[in-house]
Amino acid sequence: MPLRDIIGQSVAVRSLLGTLKSGRLGHAFLFIGPAGVGKRTSALAFAQAVNCAAPMDDADACGVCPSCRRVERGVDIDARVYSPTRQGYRKEEAKEIRNDAHMTPNAGKRRFLILDDADAMGAEAANALLKVIEEPPEMSVFVLLTEKADRIMPTIRSRVLSVPFRPLTPAEAAAVAGERLSGGQVDYLFPIARGNMGEILRLSEDRKLKELFEDVEAELFERLLKEASASPTRLAEEVGALAGRIDLSTAEDTESTARRKSVAAILEIMMSMIERKHMTVGAGVGEMKRGCAILETLMNTIQTVRGGGLTESALEAMAINLKAKAGAA
Ligand SMILES: [Zn+2]
Repeated sequence: MPLRDIIGQSVAVRSLLGTLKSGRLGHAFLFIGPAGVGKRTSALAFAQAVNCAAPMDDADACGVCPSCRRVERGVDIDARVYSPTRQGYRKEEAKEIRNDAHMTPNAGKRRFLILDDADAMGAEAANALLKVIEEPPEMSVFVLLTEKADRIMPTIRSRVLSVPFRPLTPAEAAAVAGERLSGGQVDYLFPIARGNMGEILRLSEDRKLKELFEDVEAELFERLLKEASASPTRLAEEVGALAGRIDLSTAEDTESTARRKSVAAILEIMMSMIERKHMTVGAGVGEMKRGCAILETLMNTIQTVRGGGLTESALEAMAINLKAKAGAA
């Protein structure tokens, strides 16, 4: 897609368009920002603009010429994305990238070499690439993507133009998702996925997660707000049981880390529901106050859980706290 269609990255996009308009295209860039905010999409949009057969007045891509369409379909050899293996970039990959950098562009003005997770470069690969990134052949442009800029070798960092990408807001994520997701779904998924767009779309396919949202909405939520007399122990157990239905763990996670992720996620879902249903403009003062008190408790509990606290006792403390607040309201 052209740069103008990229949502939520105005600073990054402006700086890229500025580079294009100035006509002094750099030879190496480092896009820095969290996962799933559009770094790769922007790198491709950048390549599309540079190689477009009929660029717009602001130097952005037309989006419809054969070159633009090839980039869009991910089949343009002048805009190639490289990804590390499970062991990171090894010497072999580095050599391949280096060779590609010395090839002349196929049809475009420049050959873009886009390196996903550029921080996953071992010392050998970094050494093999250092020189070509420092001084690429004239027709080549490197775009390194990373979530962890501090892991990029200083020798490389000092020779690339850093372009910061900020996290998306929920509204921007909803705009990116477009018709693929409902507004409510984005609300639930955004905090769980930590704003990572790819993860939001992946989780949206998870039927069990969708059923869980509906159950939380239908059963737990009203009681949380209204049933001040509920037994805290039972409430803690119920939240714990709901968390047992979410699995966001990765292969490296220990059992307790996995549990912490699930519990934090269910609390995030509860927070987004309270915000959406009860913290609206039309809500009364009493309802707002109570909502804020509950949100604060949930937020503190999430922090405790994410910070490595014992999940089950954090949930009990939360339930006791909620009961006290419900009684006071
Ligand atoms: Zn074009």
